[in-house]
Amino acid sequence: MNLLVTAGPTREHLDPVRFLSNRSTGKMGFAVAQAAAERGHTVTLVAGPVSLPTPAGVTRVDVVSALDMLAAVQRLLPGHDALVMSAAVADWRPKLMSGTKLKKSAMSPLIELEPNPDILKTVRPLKGQRLFVGFAAETGDPLAEAQRKLASKGLDLIVANDVAQPDAGFAVDTNRVTFISATEPPRPLPLQSKLEVGHALVGWLERRGAA
Ligand code: C5P
Repeated sequence: MNLLVTAGPTREHLDPVRFLSNRSTGKMGFAVAQAAAERGHTVTLVAGPVSLPTPAGVTRVDVVSALDMLAAVQRLLPGHDALVMSAAVADWRPKLMSGTKLKKSAMSPLIELEPNPDILKTVRPLKGQRLFVGFAAETGDPLAEAQRKLASKGLDLIVANDVAQPDAGFAVDTNRVTFISATEPPRPLPLQSKLEVGHALVGWLERRGAA
């Protein structure tokens, strides 16, 4: 199977040195890419700004902003059988981006933002027979929120995790997730390494026939 995986945060620049971003380190998406490559699949990894080595055998495409990531996914999707969106895409970007560093004295204490497009929703018309997987990092009621996103984004599978727990979510090597699909009951997985979660996820795709 040809797998397209996104990972990491996006950066939304105000000027060449200042940006808005989030706590994602890319570990979960890189682990999915590594697991897929270990299982013999062809993997393209679209990575936001992270400091992680590229897993062996994986083709990496680096991007910075949500709009860059959207353009890369739109360009690459036609050659792939499945899309796994594990990137933590920034929801908002500054309305104005200065090409030169803004002087403190020239800056306003208010930054005007505009929404970024939802990448999964934007590429949905290109889905065809492809399998689409999303992640839902929640702090409230992870399962209910994930069910809502599964439906609203038209996904085959959503991987829900509770990022309020210290051993799961951002910046750690382990994760405790639940697989939620439209056709099966929710499947909670035990606390395990992100690489093991990656293998479970790619195994799910293999069984669903994106071979
Ligand atoms: O809505 P929320 O950001 O929680 O949804 C999470 C899922 O949607 C993730 O798979 C994420 O990669 C994807 N996403 C996206 N485009 C965005 C924001 C999130 O594809 N602008």
